[in-house]
Amino acid sequence: MVRELRLGDISVDVVLKDIKNVHLSVHPPTGRVRIAAPRSMTLETIRLFAISRLGWIKRQQRRQRAQDRETPREYIERESHYLWGRRYLLRIVEDVPRSYVAIDHRHIELGVPEGAGTEKRQAVLDSWYREELRAAASDLIVKWQDRLGVEVERFYIQRMKTKWGGSSPCRRTIRLNLELAKKDPECLDYVILHEMAHFIVPHHGGDFAALLDQHMPNWQHVRKHLNDLPLGPVSGE
Ligand SMILES: [Zn+2]
Repeated sequence: MVRELRLGDISVDVVLKDIKNVHLSVHPPTGRVRIAAPRSMTLETIRLFAISRLGWIKRQQRRQRAQDRETPREYIERESHYLWGRRYLLRIVEDVPRSYVAIDHRHIELGVPEGAGTEKRQAVLDSWYREELRAAASDLIVKWQDRLGVEVERFYIQRMKTKWGGSSPCRRTIRLNLELAKKDPECLDYVILHEMAHFIVPHHGGDFAALLDQHMPNWQHVRKHLNDLPLGPVSGE
């Protein structure tokens, strides 16, 4: 029988078995925690054991989730894909006349024509990410135009290998990394603020930091989170 222990936001599956020692494991890709324990052990003892290993559990979970995000995708059934920081399982529907992407609370469903290989699947999904990002970015740009009092002439969504965004203050354009559609929404909000703030202060000096402080007091926290994230799976592009 599997019981569930909750330690804050971490849930632990506990299995009592005919074994002598407690065995703790963390399973990829989501970092599910499992404890196998001797039948004689009480749930309270198991809880105390789990609490004593909390630091280790969290480290394992962070590492596994990072790995899961970094692995190149194959666009196959039940593979993890992310939208706005949430993980979904891919569901493939083959043999449809027109490609589509649909989403529910757990799945991203990808409909593709017969014989569509990895490249075609990726192209369909990427153009869907692009639309998601374009819609979200448009709203945020309007918000920051009002607050900063600057205008964005155009914005571009690109695959970028080393940066989350970029800007050209004289042309009034900004560039956004397509991968931002997979990260927490606050990441996109911060990158847009950052790039538009360069229209006012071109360099990263004290004036720039003060401007960010004024408009997004937790920007350093968001930036740190963003820097901890991979820029995306390594692909041929
Ligand atoms: Zn910058």
